[in-house]
Amino acid sequence: MRDICLPCHVEYRVALVGVTVLEVVDGAVYAIYAADVLSCPRCGHSIVCARTLSTPLEHWHSSFADALSGALALEARDPNRIVRVYGRVRDALAAEKGDQSS
Ligand SMILES: [Zn+2]
Repeated sequence: MRDICLPCHVEYRVALVGVTVLEVVDGAVYAIYAADVLSCPRCGHSIVCARTLSTPLEHWHSSFADALSGALALEARDPNRIVRVYGRVRDALAAEKGDQSS
């Protein structure tokens, strides 16, 4: 399945390979997974797309804490490699207001 920009009717292109997605629910990171950033070559709209066959690492996995600290260290070095996605609208609104409790 190809990812298509609906307004432009063209296929998204890979813009950045290898980002780490931190899925935030109720203000805390719930899951971590690998993805790529795709971009429309016409309008520039970007999407994050999970491309790997690996399953998300969820908060109850034994290696979650180490993976999260690694992701936060990576974010300090290269913020473009970390994407936070909010499971609920209220989490996104809190993040916009500067609540970085996750
Ligand atoms: Zn487009």
